[in-house]
Order: sequence, then structure tokens, then C-alpha cells
Amino acid sequence: MNRSDDAPGDLFAQRVGHLEAEGAYHVLARAQALEAQGRDIIHLEVGEPDFLASEEILDAGVEALRAGRARYVPPAGIPALREAIADFAGKQRGIAVDQSNVLVSPGAKPNMFFPTLALLEPGDEAVYPDPGFPTYAAMIGVAGGRAVPVPVLEERGFSFDLAAFDRAVSPRTKVIILNSPANPTGGVIPLADLEHIAAAAQRIGAWVISDEIYTRITFDGGIAPSIASLPGMKDRTVIVDGFSKTYAMSGWRLGYGIMPEGLARRVELLLTHAYGCTSEFVQLAAVEALRGSQDWVAAMVAEYRRRRDRVVSALNAIPGIRCREPQGAFYVFPNVTALGVAVDDLAERILNEAGVALLPGTAFGANGEGYLRLSYATSMENLEEALGRLDRFVRSA
Ligand code: PMP
Repeated sequence: MNRSDDAPGDLFAQRVGHLEAEGAYHVLARAQALEAQGRDIIHLEVGEPDFLASEEILDAGVEALRAGRARYVPPAGIPALREAIADFAGKQRGIAVDQSNVLVSPGAKPNMFFPTLALLEPGDEAVYPDPGFPTYAAMIGVAGGRAVPVPVLEERGFSFDLAAFDRAVSPRTKVIILNSPANPTGGVIPLADLEHIAAAAQRIGAWVISDEIYTRITFDGGIAPSIASLPGMKDRTVIVDGFSKTYAMSGWRLGYGIMPEGLARRVELLLTHAYGCTSEFVQLAAVEALRGSQDWVAAMVAEYRRRRDRVVSALNAIPGIRCREPQGAFYVFPNVTALGVAVDDLAERILNEAGVALLPGTAFGANGEGYLRLSYATSMENLEEALGRLDRFVRSA
């Protein structure tokens, strides 16, 4: 979005030339600039829980910090946490996970970025969802790979256009990136599609990086299915998950990757040299998150569901807006093509004129044209106010 022009581009390596700001951070900065001028803005642009981590997690983190648990620890993560993750995440997906498969990281992002660096040779192709989380194209490019977007379709619940997927993959495809439940659409990839994708990965010898950070935020009970659970897929899949969303710990910075042992050892070396290790007291708090009661996670998901239902029905009552009911995450991705305005302009006008910060679908790729993304990870009161403003804006525009 915002390329820095403060120095001649030829000073920098080609691998950073394609990078752009993440839409959510960019719009947040614009919204904050308006707030600094005294405007009242409702924030539906940022994708992070509005809840605090549970009391138990907070206590475990503070106690660990006070006990001096803030030293260098093993780069792959402390054994207690790697073991807890192996147990929990393995059981959840019905696969055997050993702690040697687990790498802990500050946030989930490094566990996508470093496996991508470890897998792609320059020129290798990587397919990814469009619209999709912007980090995928960014990391493929830094690795020197060729980013091949594959459309996801509203009428398929925002799963891949499978015909386009079949045309996009070939023996040149080294990595297939999946995200289910998805940011920005809330779509969940059905099991039949995962089977189709798994068959292709096995046929062409590709790896799968499966971003499952929203896996427990689904609204039909249970978790979203994982491609790693399908026969033969654990050996070619990197599962990416973390604590930012499920445990409302976004600012604590804690995530993990689960991957085959050989890859894990290479990625471990990359992360050793990149960030050394992940904060010890944060990891101790996360052991409590996994070993403690999961009831409050269920309560949080129930609250997201209540908000989703309200937001979907209110959006569908606005003329020119059509919103599918998403099955997971905490976003809605309404279709606004009937309003007849390019969504970059529309989102900008909604921010300036209605005081609601949200994202144009194009912040997630060219196929996001015609859509807006709203995060409902904010209070019902904020949501009601934002929906009212949006309704008045559309009716008076
Ligand atoms: N994947 C997706 C799809 C996300 O939406 C996010 C957070 N916005 C992340 C990964 C990054 O998670 P973390 O904050 O744990 O690095």
C-alpha cells in the first residue's frame, strides 16, 4: 500500500521491493490520525480479540516473570510447552505429534515465514488463497518464489475455485498455502476440498503450509478439519497455530508450527539466528492456557457467534449489501458490488464520512474487489453503533 520513498529503491535488495504495509495496520494508522483530530471512529479493521487473556493465564505469566523466568531458553521452545502443544494440537487433529515436531515462535507468523524460506528455491511456485492473508504473498516473494494466487469463491463458502486450483498447480508448485477458517472471509474449507487438495499435493510432490490459527473459532461445534489429518499428509504439512486468537493473547506474541522432523531442524536453525528464542514467561503462561480449563475459550466463541449472527442480519438489511454467514474466525466479508463503487474508495469514504474503520477486500488481493472486511472482535455496543452508521451512510450516499 505505502511504499517508502525516502531513499532510492536501488539501494535495497530485490527481495524487499514487493513488500507493502498490511492493510489493517495501514487503516488503523489512518483512523488514529482522524482520532487525533477529535473524530470518533469505530474500529472494525483490526483482527484481534477484544477480550483479555484469562485470569489464570495472566497470573501464570506474572508469577513466572516475578520468579525470574525471563532468560534465554532453547530456540525451539521450552520442553513443557512443546510437550503441551504436541499433546493438545495432536489430539485435536487426531494425529500423533511428538515434541520434536513442534517449534515455538513469537506469534504464528515466524512459523509461516521460516518454513517458506526453508522450502522455496528462487523461482519455485507457491499457490495461496486470493483474497487471503497478505503475509502469504509477502513471504513467498522474500523467499524468491513465484506467488500464484488462486481465487476463493463466495458461492463456495470462500473455499478455492477448484478448477482454478487445478490449473494453478503443477510440478513447479513447491508449496500450497491454506487458511481455514480464513482471514478475511471467515470461510472454512470443507473436508472434500481438503481431500482434493491433498491428492494434488501428493501427485505433484508439494508441501502444504496450513494456517490454522482460527481452527477453534468455528460455529458449528468442533474444530475446522485439518489437511494434516488426512492419510499421508502429516509428512508434507506445516501446521501453523498459536495463542493470539484462541486465547486472546495477540500482544503476548506466541505461536507455533508443527512439521516433519527434518524440516523442523532446518527451521529451528533459521529461527535461532533470526530471533534466538521466544520469551520464557510467555511460554509458561501458555502452558497454563493449554493445560487449564478450556471453558472460557468456549464462552468466547459463543460470544463471537452471537455477534456474527447480529452483524450478518444487520448487514443484509442494508440495501446493496449481501453478506454470507461465515462459519469461522471473527470476520464478515460482505459483497457490496451492488453499491457500484470500487471498494478502496468505498472503505475510505466510510472511514471519513461515517467514522467506521474497515478494510477493502482488495487489501487481501485483487479478487477481494467487490467486498469489505469487518472484524466483529469488538463489543456488541460498538457493533450496533457501527452498523447504524453504515446503514445511514449507504442510504444517504
Ligand atoms: N494468520 C492469519 C490468517 C491471521 O489472521 C493472523 C493475525 N492477523 C496471523 C496468522 C498472525 O498471527 P500472530 O499474531 O500469532 O502472528
